[in-house]
Amino acid sequence: MKTTSLHIGTRPLKQKQQKRLDAFLQQLRVDADHFLGYPCTREFDYSPLYPFLSMPLNNVGDPFIESRYHLNTHEYEREVIDFFTELLHAKEETWGYITNGGTEGNMYGIYLAREIYPDALLYYSEATHYSVPKILRMLHARNIMVKSQSNGEIDYQDLAETIRIHRDIPAIIFANIGTTMTGAVDNLDKIKLIIKDLAITQFYIHCDAALGGMILPFVDKSQPFDFSADVDSISISGHKMIGSPIPCGLALAKKTHVDRISRSVEYIGTLDTTVTGSRNAITPLFLWYAIHSKGKTGFKEICQHCITIADYAIKRFADCGIKAWRNPNSITVVFPRQKEAVLAKWQIATQNELAHIITMPHVKTSHIDRFINDISQAKKKEAA
Ligand SMILES: *Cc1c(COP(=O)(O)O)cnc(C)c1O
Repeated sequence: MKTTSLHIGTRPLKQKQQKRLDAFLQQLRVDADHFLGYPCTREFDYSPLYPFLSMPLNNVGDPFIESRYHLNTHEYEREVIDFFTELLHAKEETWGYITNGGTEGNMYGIYLAREIYPDALLYYSEATHYSVPKILRMLHARNIMVKSQSNGEIDYQDLAETIRIHRDIPAIIFANIGTTMTGAVDNLDKIKLIIKDLAITQFYIHCDAALGGMILPFVDKSQPFDFSADVDSISISGHKMIGSPIPCGLALAKKTHVDRISRSVEYIGTLDTTVTGSRNAITPLFLWYAIHSKGKTGFKEICQHCITIADYAIKRFADCGIKAWRNPNSITVVFPRQKEAVLAKWQIATQNELAHIITMPHVKTSHIDRFINDISQAKKKEAA
């Protein structure tokens, strides 16, 4: 029998409990092989970092300032932020930190915007992620939902008309850089033109680049979305395209905006610039490891693979008479809703009559072939 030294108050797991965990892992492996509907890659290997899991690591406080809590990975977090600062073409000084996911980064951007313009109206499209209306309620941010077009992009005419009615108050634009359902990118050139035409001088642009933020920097012809388009803040998910067993993301913003909300806290001996107190210190190590083991070249290869598989899927759908499509630079393949059993087996997200698969890095042509086969089998069964 293997003897491990148990800590005070700890007893070995009973055989029944151990067996349950083993069976659970088996089931997860089966499900992970049918993972087409959500924008999270399962392709990562952080096993060289497992020894760090035995430490009570915590990144409490601002990553750019030394804190009293030494068991942190701030140094690695800063390097991840530096990588993205450069990748996203920051011109003026920017600040950022690693969040618990895209939602927190969006909350952070909206929080900064509302602190700067407390009376502003925030405009967002109906294709916006479901977490955003909740954030707006939590932050008491005045807002108006704008129509979207059928491809998921914001309706510019409706946006212009809505802003025109409220020309006397500052505007906060919540732009989607890859909508959840159809991967649509709101056109920042058009949005900025609307703002300019209406002579609005007080405005703030936040980009929700949960998925798109790790695709657009690596394609040949990217839509504008980063600091080179003079946006104020950006949120990107870490566990989606880069991959992580623990949800994570990045919040990045112009430093002048962040300075307005930072408070010095004696207890932790640092600045309290983030949303939560204690912060995950393992995910910065994961992201740092991914950046160094893949690099920009690796990320580019990964994005090209995803786009190739997306086009392959569209072709395979067409072969069996189903019209599937995708937005430019998107790896979200949209198609009409299919039989429930197929949707459940492949973990496919739906919205009304639409369904999508997202060709994340772990999706290979063989997955698409098996999926399309299941769809045509279900059709044949119905016809019989
Ligand atoms: C996934 C997603 C979010 C939420 O991000 P989490 O990392 O799940 O918190 C927000 N916006 C869009 C467009 C997304 O796709």
